[in-house]
Amino acid sequence: MNLPELNQLWQETTNWQPNQEQTLLFEQLYHKIIAANKYLNLTRITTPEEFWEKNLWDSLAPVLSYDFSYKTIIDIGTGGGFPGVPSAIAFPLGQFFLMDSTTKKINFINELVKELNLKNIKTLVDRAENIGQSKSYRSQFDFALIRAVAQTSICLEYTLPLLKKDGIAILYRGNWTTEEENHNKKIAQKLGGQIENIIKKSTPLNNHNRHCIYVRKIDNSPKEYPRQVGKPVKQPL
Ligand code: SAM
Repeated sequence: MNLPELNQLWQETTNWQPNQEQTLLFEQLYHKIIAANKYLNLTRITTPEEFWEKNLWDSLAPVLSYDFSYKTIIDIGTGGGFPGVPSAIAFPLGQFFLMDSTTKKINFINELVKELNLKNIKTLVDRAENIGQSKSYRSQFDFALIRAVAQTSICLEYTLPLLKKDGIAILYRGNWTTEEENHNKKIAQKLGGQIENIIKKSTPLNNHNRHCIYVRKIDNSPKEYPRQVGKPVKQPL
């Protein structure tokens, strides 16, 4: 089964469409994910339409308003490679860093990267709490992407310390409430960030709600964040 050809829909909803090479890479990605899903729990998505909407469109719609060329981008808790792999395909000149705490998921991505010859992806098995305190990664990235990893305040604690000043955290959320916004404005501030924009979208095939939260790093994150492994989840800010 092949992915649906939805270039007009890409164009209408994101003002972008994949070229031939990118279309082929998306197709290969879909087949690898479906094959690996038989032994790894990567995604619940199986039909080509679902994959297109929930993994390709959903990964890319929040990032296509930026140009990631010559930028460094980290995808935290990338799982089977989302949103990191579609983003690396869309921006071949961006330098992508995909990390997850689960070794077998990163092993799968390493294989995928080799087979699809994706030269702009590096991977790492670790926890966001550790790399956020490591000299090699703290304050090193222009963008940090995070989808379906934890509640918003935890995502802010994971992403903001990794960004350079002026860098942007892109948080992928489903529904979004005013209470959540008011609370997380304060948390962002505490971590050196400022919520810059919140964009609501509907997925183009099934009209599901999406909110994309863009948070700019305007100041250094205090040294104590991220806290030690497990603490952000046990005691969210
Ligand atoms: N981002 C992918 C997506 O949207 O399809 C995967 C989402 S999956 C529900 C959550 C992933 O986050 C898992 O692969 C898990 O191992 C990873 N994860 C959770 N907490 C983490 C942490 N503190 N550091 C690194 N990875 C983490």
